[in-house]
This record gives sequence, structure tokens and C-alpha cells, in this order.
Amino acid sequence: MIEYAAMDVSHILESLNDEQRNAVASPSKNLLVLAGAGSGKTRVLVHRIAWLIQAEHVSPFAVLAVTFTNKAAREMRGRIEELLGQSFGGMWVGTFHGLAHRLLRSHWQEAGLPEDFHILDADDQLRLLKRITRSLHIDEEKWPAKQCQWYINAQKDEGLRANNIEHFEDDYTKTMLEVYKAYEEACERGGMIDFGEILLRAHELWLKNPQVLAHYQNRFQYILVDEFQDTNSIQYAWLRVLAGNNNQLMVVGDDDQSIYGWRGAKIENIQKFNVDFPDTDMVRLEQNYRSTSTILNAANKLIANNQGRLGKNLWTDGSEGEPISLYEAFNEQDEARFIVDRLQDWFNQGNRRSESAVLYRSNAQSRELEDALLRVGIPYRIYGGHRFYERLEIKNALSYLRLLINRDDDTAIERVINVPTRGIGGRTIDTVRTVAREQNCSLWQACAKCINESILTSRAANAVLAFMELIDKLDADCANMELHEKAEQVISQSGLVHHHEKEGGEKARSRIENLEELVNACGNFDDADIEVEEGEGIDLTSKVLLAAFLDQASLDAGDTQADESDDAVQLMTLHSAKGLEFQLVFLAGMEEGLFPHKMSMDNLAGLEEERRLCYVGITRAKNKLYMSHAESRRLHGDVTLCRPSRFIKEIPPELVDEVRLKTAITRMGGQRSKNGVLGKGIRGQVEVPKTEISLGQRVAHGKFGEGVVLNYEGQGSNARVQVNFDAVGSKWLVLSYAKLEVLG
Ligand code: ATP
Ligand code: MG
Repeated sequence: MIEYAAMDVSHILESLNDEQRNAVASPSKNLLVLAGAGSGKTRVLVHRIAWLIQAEHVSPFAVLAVTFTNKAAREMRGRIEELLGQSFGGMWVGTFHGLAHRLLRSHWQEAGLPEDFHILDADDQLRLLKRITRSLHIDEEKWPAKQCQWYINAQKDEGLRANNIEHFEDDYTKTMLEVYKAYEEACERGGMIDFGEILLRAHELWLKNPQVLAHYQNRFQYILVDEFQDTNSIQYAWLRVLAGNNNQLMVVGDDDQSIYGWRGAKIENIQKFNVDFPDTDMVRLEQNYRSTSTILNAANKLIANNQGRLGKNLWTDGSEGEPISLYEAFNEQDEARFIVDRLQDWFNQGNRRSESAVLYRSNAQSRELEDALLRVGIPYRIYGGHRFYERLEIKNALSYLRLLINRDDDTAIERVINVPTRGIGGRTIDTVRTVAREQNCSLWQACAKCINESILTSRAANAVLAFMELIDKLDADCANMELHEKAEQVISQSGLVHHHEKEGGEKARSRIENLEELVNACGNFDDADIEVEEGEGIDLTSKVLLAAFLDQASLDAGDTQADESDDAVQLMTLHSAKGLEFQLVFLAGMEEGLFPHKMSMDNLAGLEEERRLCYVGITRAKNKLYMSHAESRRLHGDVTLCRPSRFIKEIPPELVDEVRLKTAITRMGGQRSKNGVLGKGIRGQVEVPKTEISLGQRVAHGKFGEGVVLNYEGQGSNARVQVNFDAVGSKWLVLSYAKLEVLG
């Protein structure tokens, strides 16, 4: 046993068990903490940093901590500072992407980038690839841009550029390489880097610049990585080079929670860690502190169905807790309503909203849940999906701002050259593209050429000229403005606000609000948000501030997490739930084809990754877990009949309580269900009056004939039902007037 002589550091070791303590205070050079969900891995990592600083007098400057999301990084920094009672600005805590990006900003020259390089998010990347495949006359049916995107990203995750890839004569590789090459050239020309490129460049920065590497190796003597099971090849390579032979590396992870195989994460990285980093102390943690024994048992039993696990024995001395509740919904609306009802009950008991989460497999599932939450006015925060910086209107505004910094930004020009419409049609843009390709110049330069050399009709030329003048004028007008004034000016002068005003309607209104919100975001963004090396002396009034803001926006949009917020229900995909924990968790859409996802169902590796994802989902819950599935679901426009997920069956039935029957609606004038609340009655718990109409029930209407009840909303005399009539299709009817006859 280690002696903890220094008394003033004892509080760092308090509230840790023996194994955790050994890890935190380990004298070993390298550390691998391999343990199941909720066993305190993240806690150990945070305490280890505090220990290094306080007990071993390591400078915070010498610490580099890597986690998976910006949110986790902020939390980590907060927890270290809390433990030590002071803040540490010089300590680098961030995601792989965030840290690599920071390096590239400081060393753009060594990394072979222009100073004003900008980040291409997934959406921009796809647009660019569409343009490229089109200009290369590639059959889009056969080789969709999306496929090229996957291919390129996968190569970059492996650290491979187009010219590193051996040229096979098969059609697929030939085509992909052709696109990859053209894409690299386009990025190079426009000073753009995608997410994969950030990591690839940061790795090349080490390899090509020994003096830069030596500087950082000298500095970051303590490197700590959370969620290590999800690092991909290039991230691992980057770490390995940085750690070199002398620095200390601590990684924590769980093979059972590896869920990014589809994005190139390599579980082998854990397995070969001992080999690549000799002198590694391996620590296993087996006690789970997060969940009730019911929830933990369910998770353990489920994951036992996977083969080739490193294996572990996770236990808890916590209470048994409530059984897991399973609800079979009629359709996705019924499911959403069930979840919202349960949430409301739970809040009414005085629980905090932020302690609840609804998790789902696909982003598309969120909209129904959002609608149901909005209807009853429960605040929610959505992670992933279309969030602020990914929204069309925001991206348009950002494109204008980007052009102020760099006219040669082709992606930005493509987005806004004719938004709002200013008479620059598809043909004109095509001509400009062709000129750009032939002359190997940017679209902006091609525009100028087209005007000067009368390549365009005079009408088109005038329109293009007006656009160029607008950008130049904006740039001149905004030169000395504050960031938020710049944004305001750009939004109004570009005509974007007017453009949406003309559209009219709720959607347009929210777009305008979002644009206003962008001005606010700029106002709140200050130099504190810019990460500059001490003493770098940057002129923050210049374009640097705008550039930093635009980078932040791209990184935020790429992250799977949203901002911190007030008390709100947390909605997110299972992938974004990693590392988090909540008192109350719902796993929605537990259906074959949805979860496990149909793309991954047919092969064992894919299925096992889905099962790990389910393991992650279950183990997010501390006290209570609900699972739900629907008999039918509308996804991507089609209604399909669904079978319950096999994962439900893999949980021992004695741990699960089925919420027996479906929600029922009471007709006005009929008997009320016992609790007197419409739409809340659950058969089996309340007497079901004869006059109730349940979802899925066949009914007859005097005028419309027979149909099936699809949905309902409202209560009492406001209650309305949606019936899909055989003859006339779907109609909403006020229940108290409709005189529906219930059929057998
Ligand atoms: P995951 O695999 O989901 O990322 P993890 O292994 O990182 O989980 P933590 O999030 O660090 O686990 O810990 C899970 C919960 O258990 C947290 O609420 C943490 O504060 C608590 N916990 C961990 N260790 C202890 C301990 N020794 N005493 C009390 N609570 C603990
Ligand atoms: Mg963790």
C-alpha cells in the first residue's frame, strides 16, 4: 500500500476506493484503467490530474487532458478546479479536434496552411464533393457524393492521403481516388480543412517539424485520455508521437463501450497499449457507483451476449431499485406522449429536469419527441441534429462573414452568391465554375475574369458585379466595427433578413430570430474565448476575432453536444450520451431495424457494436430506466410495422415490468377513467370504461365511414382524434361532436 504522507492532499484521495486510489497516486510511468461503465474512470482521471498538480507539484502547464466532447472537457476542467480550489488557464483540456485545431492555428505555417484557413463541416464537405463529382462527370447514381465522403473520411482516419493509397485497377478505388485527389486540390486552393484533416495535419505537423514536436513533448509531460476505446488510428498515432519515450500517458476506457467503430475507432488500441507503452500499470475497477443493481444487472446480462470481450465483473452495493419499465406504444406519437407523461409525473415529484434524458438511435426520432414536449411546454435541450450553427440561415450569414476574411472561400461563395436571389442563375454559376476549373483559380477570381473578359452576358455580368461590390463594400464598412456590429451589418446589408421576411410564416420568423441570436452570440464572444499562447500578442480588434468566432462556430456544430443550459430535459442520440449520467433515462424506439439499426444488423461486428451502444444507453441511468417501442412508426416518410428490439429480450424478464396497455381516450359524455384525466389512463391500472377509444381501434363515422384511430390530442371538450378513414384518408375530429361508433 502506498503511503500518503502529504496531508494537505488527502482530500484528493478521499471518496475513492482502494483501486481508484492506487490509480490516482500510481508511481508508474504509464497507466491503463480498463473498467466498466460507472466505475469511476472519469473520476479517477480528474483526481489524477489534481494529484499530479498538488502532490507531485506538476505544473498545470505540463498537463494535456483529452476527452470526447467539449461538454465533457468543460466539466473536467471545472471538476479539477473545484478539487484544487483555483483555476488553471494554462492547462490544455479539450477534444482531439479542439486541441489539434489549436495547434494548427499556432503553427499554420509549419502545417502548410494559409493563416486564414477555415474549417469545413460535414455539410459543407458534402456540398463540395457534389460539385466535384459533377465536374468530373462521375455517375452520381453509381457513386453518390455521400459515399465519396465516407471513403475520404475513412482514409483520413487511417492517416492516408490520396497519394498514399495504392492504386488498384478496380473501378471503385479508381473513382474514389480520383474524387479524393480533386477534393484535396479544392481544399488546398480554398484554404479549407475538414474534421478528419484537422487530425491528419496535426499528426503531420509532428512528423514534419521535429522542433515543433520537441517543444510540445517537452511541455506536455503528462497526457491523460478519457474514453480511450473510441480513439481512431490517427488519434492514436498523434498521441504516440507526442508521448515519445519520456512522457507519461494515462488512458481510461471500456471495451464494452466502444461505439465508434463505424468511424474508424480501433478497439485494438486498448489491446496493444501494453505493447506500445511498456512500463504500464494496468488498473481494473469493478465497483459501479452509478446505477441500481437492477439496471446494472440488465446491462451486464445484455453485454454478455457479445463475444471476444476483455471481460469484467461489475458489481454494486447499491440498492435494487425499481424494475425497468417497458412500454409498447401504438405508434411514435403514442410513444412520445407516454414519455412526456412519465416525465411530467416525475417533475411533479420535485425532480430536476436536467436529471432526465431521452435517448434514441437516430436523430430523426427527436422531432416527434420535441413536438410532444413543446405541446406541454417542458423545456428541453437537444444534442446533435440540427442545432444552431448548422441551420441554413446561420450558415448563410456565416458564409458572408467568411467572405469578408477570404474571398477565395469557394464554399461560402457557392452558398450565398445567389442567396438572397439576385439574378445569378444556375447557368451563370456553371460558367463561373468552368472558368475556375480551367484557370485553376477560385470562384471569386473566376467571377472577376468572367466580367472582365465579357464571358458572361451583360445582364449576368452586372448581377455578379453587384454581388462582388456588395462583399467589398461590406468589408470596407465593417473594417473597424465590433464583432457583433459586423454581424448585424452583414445580416441586414446582405438582404438575408429581408429575404426571410418575404418568405413569411412561422419558419421564416424563427429563422430571423436565429439571425438575431447570431448577433447576440457575437456580442457574447470575446477575446477570452480565443485560445492564444501567452505572449503571442495578437491584435484582437482585427479580423482575428471574427476568424476565431467562425472557427468556434464550426467546432461547435461538429461536436455532438450542445451548450450547457438551465433546467431542461436532455434529448440526444445514444452516441452523444457517452460518459454522462442521469437519474431517469428513457430508451426510445427499441425496435428491430431502428435499434439495432438496419445498416448494422446483418453482420456480427455491426450487431455487437449496436449492443455496446445499448449497454451505453442502459448504464446512463442511475435510478430508473424506461424502454419503449412502437408497433408502427413513420420514419423518413414511410409507415412501417415494427418488431420489438432483440435487446429487450436479452434482458432477464424478472428485471422488467411491462406497462401493460396502451393509452386510452375517453369520449365526452361517457364515463371518465378513474383518475378523471383524459389520455392518462393506463389499462390495468384504471378501470377501462366501455366508451373509451384506444389508439389503433376501428371506428365508424356517419359520413366518412370506417377507419382506424391514429392519434389524439387535448382533453375534455377539446379532445380531438385523428382517424384514418378507409375511404377518405386521415381526418382530425372533435371527439365530443364526432359521434364515433366503436367497432368490435
Ligand atoms: P462511464 O464508463 O459511463 O464513462 P465512468 O467509469 O467514467 O463511467 P464516472 O462517471 O467517473 O464513471 O463515475 C460514475 C459515478 O459514480 C459518478 O457519479 C461518480 O461521482 C461516482 N463515483 C465513482 N467513484 C466513486 C466513489 N469511490 N465513491 C462515490 N462515488 C463514486
Ligand atoms: Mg467516464
